[in-house]
Amino acid sequence: MTEQQLDSLFRYISKYTVPAPYGPEDISLNHGIHLSGGDPFLNYELLLKAVDLAKEYEIPSVFVETNCFWCLDDQTTRERFLELKAAGMHGVMISVNPFYLEFVPFERTERAIRIAHEIFGNNLAVYQTEYYRRFIELGISGTVKYKDYLKIEPEQVFMCNVEFFLTGRPICALSGILDNYYPRYEAEVLLEQPCRPDFVRPWHNHFDNYSNYMPSYCAELSYGNWNDLDHFVGTEPDPDEKPVLSMIIQNDFKTLLEFSRNEGCIDDPAGYFSKCHLCVDIRKYLSENGDYKELSPLEYYKHFG
Ligand code: SF4
Repeated sequence: MTEQQLDSLFRYISKYTVPAPYGPEDISLNHGIHLSGGDPFLNYELLLKAVDLAKEYEIPSVFVETNCFWCLDDQTTRERFLELKAAGMHGVMISVNPFYLEFVPFERTERAIRIAHEIFGNNLAVYQTEYYRRFIELGISGTVKYKDYLKIEPEQVFMCNVEFFLTGRPICALSGILDNYYPRYEAEVLLEQPCRPDFVRPWHNHFDNYSNYMPSYCAELSYGNWNDLDHFVGTEPDPDEKPVLSMIIQNDFKTLLEFSRNEGCIDDPAGYFSKCHLCVDIRKYLSENGDYKELSPLEYYKHFG
């Protein structure tokens, strides 16, 4: 995002953000805002500016997510966390999972957690702590290729006490592995399931650098440009203008499936792991075979594993 985009976005969303239950200087995954990426530390100056702007617009409960790639030494890590805190950042969330472990040496993650805890105290979140605990227990250092991690913990990756969303591109990229752990279902079996959590909700929505306002965790399904946020809040999209979005908001996946079949989409004969798997499969097909402005950014659909 540019600084100007951040300024506009924070101005729009400031009136909708509410503080964490314990107070505006505490953090919570579903209150206030969190700055994510990519990794916001790729542009540290902009991250600092974002904290300034959040303060200017009195946005509560602000934290940043990072995968710790930048935590090369104690001094830099401490300096940056201290500088961010002084600027008004309330907390930090550190990502720990086997996917980042492929690229970020675990020493950097450990360093970030140790120093962030000194500086942010209870406003340090580790996502996911179960992986952190396991990596420590396994004595992991450096990076570990995902295929090698699967050899160390073959049964644990998906079945242990961690969250793993069966949605988006990962479910397609990892389908060969997931087949060892999860059953698949025919499309019809999944249609009546509700979106979990609700697709439209007043908490945890996403705003990207292409100006998309994306409800929920549903990657690349855009309500529209967040410059029109006030217009979107409390209104339903025009079904002629955004048919896919409209059917999803109605939770009318039966019609969406029929619609996609009429457009030539063929069900995966192997079936689907989840309703989200079916949903992304339909959206991918429609994005490649039509013009749906709600399937944005389009680039997302061009890079499936
Ligand atoms: S089914 Fe689609 S809209 Fe519903 S939660 Fe899953 S990805 Fe989102």
